[in-house]
Order: sequence, then C-alpha cells, then structure tokens
Amino acid sequence: MKLLKTIRRYYFYCGIEKEEYNELKKDAYVSNYEVWRILHFIMVVVFFGLFIASLVNDMMSINRYYYLGLFVYSVIAVILFYILEKDSLAAQLLIYLSMSCLFLFGCLISMNNPEHNATTFIAFLLVTPMFMIDKPFFMTIELVAASVVFLIWMYAVKPFEVWEMDFINVLSYTIIGCFLNVVANSIRIKEFVLTKKIRIQKDTDAMTGLRNKGALTREIDEFLKDESSDKGLLLIMDIDKFKFINDNYGHDIGDRVIIQFANFLLNKFGDELTGRFGGDEFILFVRNTYDEDTAVEIANEIINNISEVVELPDKDKKISTSIGIAVYKGVEKSYSEIFKKADIALYRAKDDKENRYCIYK
Ligand code: GH3
Ligand code: MG
Repeated sequence: MKLLKTIRRYYFYCGIEKEEYNELKKDAYVSNYEVWRILHFIMVVVFFGLFIASLVNDMMSINRYYYLGLFVYSVIAVILFYILEKDSLAAQLLIYLSMSCLFLFGCLISMNNPEHNATTFIAFLLVTPMFMIDKPFFMTIELVAASVVFLIWMYAVKPFEVWEMDFINVLSYTIIGCFLNVVANSIRIKEFVLTKKIRIQKDTDAMTGLRNKGALTREIDEFLKDESSDKGLLLIMDIDKFKFINDNYGHDIGDRVIIQFANFLLNKFGDELTGRFGGDEFILFVRNTYDEDTAVEIANEIINNISEVVELPDKDKKISTSIGIAVYKGVEKSYSEIFKKADIALYRAKDDKENRYCIYK
C-alpha cells in the first residue's frame, strides 16, 4: 500500500505532495517554456543545416523534404513561443506536439532506411523525457504512443529480423525513457521546492511571518512603477513607548506584543501589503484607493482595536500606536519617496497630543 502510494506520488506529482505540486506547476511550465524555446531555435538551425546538406549530398537527399518540413515547423513554433504566455497550457501542448513531430521524423527516417535498425527514433526516446517537467504520466503516454505507432508502421516496411531487433530496442528504451523522466522530474521539482522555500524565508520576518523590509520595499516599488496603478495609501505604524513595555515586562512580553500586533494586521488587512519594517514599526499599503476618509477610517480602526487585541500582563494598561499616512496619487515613483512622507507624518502624529494619526500634506 505504501509502495503504491509512493509510486503514485512520483508518477503523478514528481515525488512531492499533490498540493505542493499544484502550487509549483506554473514554475515548471515556465521552465519548460524557456528550455523548449531554446531547443526550437536549435531545431531551426539543425534542420536548416540538414536540408542544405541534403541538397548536395546524395545519401541525405532521400530525407530532404522531412528536413524542410521540420525546419518550417520549428520556425512556426519559435514564433508561437513568442506569442504564447510562458505559463500557459497552450505552450505545454505545443511542446508535446513538437515531441510528436520529432518522433514522427524518427519514424520517417527509419522508413527510408528499412534495412537498418532505428537509431534516430531511439535517440529521441531517450533524450526528450529529460527536458520536460510535467506529470511523468503524460510523458509515458507520449512515449508509449510513439513507440506503438513506430512498431506497427515499421512492421509493414521493415524485414522481420530488423523489425525484431527494433522491437527489443524500442521496448527497452521506452521503459528507460519513462524511468529517466521520473528521475529527472523529481530532481528538478525538488529544486523548485527549495527555491520557493528560500524565497519565502528571504522575504519573511521570522518573528511575525509578515513581509520584511526587503520584500515590502520590492513589492511597493513594483506597485508604484506599474503605470496602471495610481492610487494607494501608505500607513506606517509605530507602537508608542515600546521601550517601556520591554523595560517593565521584559523582552518576551515585548515580542508577544509585536506578534499580536502582526496577527491583527494579517487578520484585518491580509489582502493588502502588510509588513514589519523592523523593531516596533509596521507597514500597511492599501492599494487602489486614495480617499482620505478611507485612510482615516483605517487608521481609527487600527488605533481603536489594537489596544483591545494586544494584551499586557497588567490588565489596566493598554498599548497605543501612532500612524503616519501618505496618500499615493501616481506621483511618487519609488518606495523611499513615499516612505519619507509617511515617516514625516508619523513624527507629527507622535508629537500630536490629540490625534494618534496624521496624513502627510
Ligand atoms: P516611541 O513612543 O517614540 O515610539 O518610543 P518607543 O519607546 O516605542 O521607542 P522606539 O520605537 O524608538 O523603540 C523601539 C524599541 O523596540 C527599541 C528596541 O529595543 C525594541 N525592539 C526592537 N526590536 C525588537 C524585538 O524584536 N523585540 C523586542 N522585544 N523589542 C524590540
Ligand atoms: Mg515605538
């Protein structure tokens, strides 16, 4: 039972869990797209070269139109690769179509040379599975279908002794090809898993799980540079007298306060960009609104709730936070520009005896 499960995991999900595989599928598609676009460029050059050689070489002339056909196909495919989205299903189907064309080419070459055992077809059986990250199940269908077509076709055109040897070769190399595909895919997909883990770790504040300064800077910068987005609110929050909390209750309680603050932001504004800038400073970037009333509403919601949500050992004491707000109307082009404005507003809020928030004017 356990063995069956393991085989299923490798055969359908490249050796990782189904959910994990589905999350990484798009990354695999992009990788296939990039590899096969280069392979198609190589195909254009190789088949063009073979076609030219077949014009002058008598032995090759018999395959002339197959070379020409694959050259034309490769050119069209290269153009399609530039039109199709990198992570689209259409691009993946195009890759399977290209593989089928290569196998067909292998069959045609073998048909023109019936006295000899197939070599081109066998080479494709071994090489193509190494370059496709997808469910190994699909590659098995591709390889088995190509082999069955080859064997039925060649049975009609080759002497039986040659076909018999081809049969043994094709059978063995189909099995080896499928196995190589499983191994190559599981290695490559694990590389994606690791890369993703490293990316998440690099972007996450370890204590709170919120975005860290680097991730915040990058993501807000991307948003500001996007021509299609010209509305946003940047809120910087800084807990008031946080040093007092650390000094009076200890660093562990201080840490707990930071974590509770972060959880509140995640629960309330998880769909927006939230992060911890460092120390007791947090960031919230709300996209697609520059309405100041909304900014005031959000600020009040944070100020009013945070004192209830965050608990101190001394039940009579409550924490408070100051908030600096900068409104984005498509003017600032970088994170640091808008951050400066919100930071100035934060200082004004800290000094203001009546309000805990301030909007930069
Ligand atoms: P203000 O009202 O002006 O904001 O004063 P404050 O006491 O909150 O001072 P400030 O924001 O400048 O200081 C933040 C303190 O947070 C300084 C540092 O010792 C403490 N701190 C920074 N990172 C951590 C952390 O990860 N855990 C804990 N417990 N304390 C931290
Ligand atoms: Mg503070």
